[in-house]
Amino acid sequence: MSGSYNAHSVLSASGAYRWMACTLSAMLEKDFDNVTSTFAEEGTAAHDLSEHKLKKALKMRSKKPNSQYQNDEMDEMTDLYVEYCLSIIEKMKESCPDLQILIEQRLDFSNYVPEGFGTGDLIVVGNKTLHVIDLKYGKGIEVSSYRNPQMMLYALGALSLFDMLYDIEQVVMTIVQPRVGNFSTYELSVSELMDWAENELKPKAELAIRGEGDYCAGSHCRFCRAKDVCRARAMKNLELMKHEFANPDLLSDEEVAEIIGLADELSKWASDVYTYASALAINEGKEWTGFKVVEGRSRRKYTDEEAVAAKAKEAGYNDIYKKALISITEMEKLMGKKTFKELLSDYVKKPKGKLTLVPESDKRQAVELITQEFQIEDEN
Ligand code: SF4
Repeated sequence: MSGSYNAHSVLSASGAYRWMACTLSAMLEKDFDNVTSTFAEEGTAAHDLSEHKLKKALKMRSKKPNSQYQNDEMDEMTDLYVEYCLSIIEKMKESCPDLQILIEQRLDFSNYVPEGFGTGDLIVVGNKTLHVIDLKYGKGIEVSSYRNPQMMLYALGALSLFDMLYDIEQVVMTIVQPRVGNFSTYELSVSELMDWAENELKPKAELAIRGEGDYCAGSHCRFCRAKDVCRARAMKNLELMKHEFANPDLLSDEEVAEIIGLADELSKWASDVYTYASALAINEGKEWTGFKVVEGRSRRKYTDEEAVAAKAKEAGYNDIYKKALISITEMEKLMGKKTFKELLSDYVKKPKGKLTLVPESDKRQAVELITQEFQIEDEN
């Protein structure tokens, strides 16, 4: 299972892509909560279900897990993952009947990364080959296995368990991301893996655990807990905006192309900072100079569709269904504003809009936020 779903060490396998690129992020992240998301919980549920299915298919004992996240899609996607795993196992069995198969195996790679461990979804060993297979249930970003540090760390952990017994020469790492049809495989020799471990991984891990090295902002920032308020990331993005262009009046085609290339990272950063500031303003009453919290726009809703239909029909309006009852706007148009109000105002409500952080100049009125804590009287 991907390391992000379980207990984390400071230098987690799932974070290796980030802390290898920005060694100082490992220590900076420690001051930020590891907030779990519904995506992570969904991922855990998918892993539990696929573990169960795979064990069943291999005639191992397993109890079906229960989760509110299980649905038809998860059932179908975990089937795809299990089918893929079984196809690898079957193929390997043709040349090696005595395979080692490990499901949800704890893998220790602390020889290279201080306190480093993770959990491999499926490890298959036989015929001098080690297969590491990892299920990724997310569908936001397609993940490649090409020199993927998380997978390479799992491979190192698995090698330390089996190398003595099986004389492994090749490592095959596969990421199965069924919701985006991604089955990404990367193969390398054990000596290539060891070279990477000694010359790239180990020095970076040593810097990271000591809180040394440099900040380095890039696409990996997206997975950093400090990303909203990290100065290095802000500086890099602000630097991009200071770009000096040659022609003072109009941008050249090259400059437009350059801006498009930078826009993605810039907009992600701006959106992260806005989300961070909004959450503090709305949930904790934090005041940001020049900004206020208002109620966002909301749409009117019928409170009781049957009563609306009855009222409208009683007043002689029969043309009020398309596939379902016509919308409020259509009904208002059909009846005219005055009649609509007379007949149906009791059956229409406007829910409160979502709270939103906007500039002080916005026309909407600021919302009074209740931020003081209520004191609970001691009942004794
Ligand atoms: S946000 Fe980016 S630059 Fe800042 S610590 Fe995290 S990974 Fe490094």
